[in-house]
Amino acid sequence: MSTNVGQVIRCKAAVAWEAGKPLVIEEVEVAPPEKMEVRIKILFTSLCHTDVYFWEAKGQNPVFPRILGHEAGGIVESVGEGVTDLQPGDHVLPVFTGECRECAHCKSEESNMCDLLRINTDRGVMIHDQKSRFSINGKPVFHFVGTSTFSEYTVVHVGCLAKINPLAPLDKVCVLSCGISTGLGATLNVAKPKKGSSVAIFGLGAVGLAAAEGARIAGASRIIGVDLNANRFELAKKFGVTEFVNPKDYTKPVQEVIAEMTNGGVDRSVECTGHIDAMISAFECVHDGWGVAVLVGVPHKDAVFKTSPVNLLNERTLKGTFFGNYKPRSDLPSVVEKYMNKELEVEKFITHEVPFAEINKAFDLMLKGEGLRCIIRMDS
Ligand code: NAD
Ligand code: ZN
Repeated sequence: MSTNVGQVIRCKAAVAWEAGKPLVIEEVEVAPPEKMEVRIKILFTSLCHTDVYFWEAKGQNPVFPRILGHEAGGIVESVGEGVTDLQPGDHVLPVFTGECRECAHCKSEESNMCDLLRINTDRGVMIHDQKSRFSINGKPVFHFVGTSTFSEYTVVHVGCLAKINPLAPLDKVCVLSCGISTGLGATLNVAKPKKGSSVAIFGLGAVGLAAAEGARIAGASRIIGVDLNANRFELAKKFGVTEFVNPKDYTKPVQEVIAEMTNGGVDRSVECTGHIDAMISAFECVHDGWGVAVLVGVPHKDAVFKTSPVNLLNERTLKGTFFGNYKPRSDLPSVVEKYMNKELEVEKFITHEVPFAEINKAFDLMLKGEGLRCIIRMDS
């Protein structure tokens, strides 16, 4: 048992003081976990584009000072009242959305949109008492999507923690706690392409390439990658993407280009860019009669999806997903097992690694569109 149980822990955290300004490594106080909460030691975290959106706060509500971060792997340090299924030493992946196991959504086989713990990007406090567990000299610092993993220790609701195989290397499987599972699940659980079908993937970042990986696993025969950044195409070959389209190379809309390539449209499309134009194109490029488009990217808060209703009447389906429709506690451990059984490769998503002190480099890489996932090591 940790000697800090019930005590405040002082540790390092990367604090976002202001929108778009480099994070500052500060000494923070992390309060003990309250009812149904767990304090975890983060060993590895990685940067997802969603962190960058809320740090830039251009298209999102600004909540500062805040500790960002939601893709991570850690070890339980102590548990609060009422927590029975986790104990100190358990290996866990924190997730930005949760599973209370009691609400109608958790009881439904079809939903992972837990009433209690579903993502809330504007909330910077814990649900139990509407307070933050982080402070600097007694002044609160806000949480981010219930995880705040850019800290050596963080407090998370038990429903947002997946207990995983302790043999799984946390420096690899940490990327399954958001982006990779999201893309994989968007294809396997939501788009559900049939064997031999065609799939278009919009956005070839880690999420999109995980969606492509899902299409490959499902046996799709054509996987068309769409990205504005031509540097992504070489990388994407490793993920089973068979053809590439850069919308910048054409004067006509990309949905028309894809319709021409595929005799009327793709069977499935998965949008992983967060840009409204790409969302509309991803929908309009699916075949009438049976095509299904799945939206994954997080849009600007003022974005509006505009298309002719005829596109829907013509039997195209538009869907969206959070976290690839996986229920974090029930399903994520089995995604980790897919990696352990070598059905799923995660190493190819990890292109960079930095020590915690250099966390801002991970932001620079993402802003430049370089690489896929940058692992941030907390212990160095
Ligand atoms: P990323 O920045 O690494 O990749 C996005 C890619 O999209 C880039 O390669 C970029 O060049 C490309 N792109 C941008 N605009 C485009 C356009 N109009 N047409 C074609 N390509 C375009 O980001 P990521 O980490 O892979 O995340 C992708 C998206 O998924 C983000 O919006 C992120 O917030 C979102 N996300 C959603 C969930 C969810 O549960 N729904 C979970 C995680 C991430
Ligand atoms: Zn629930």
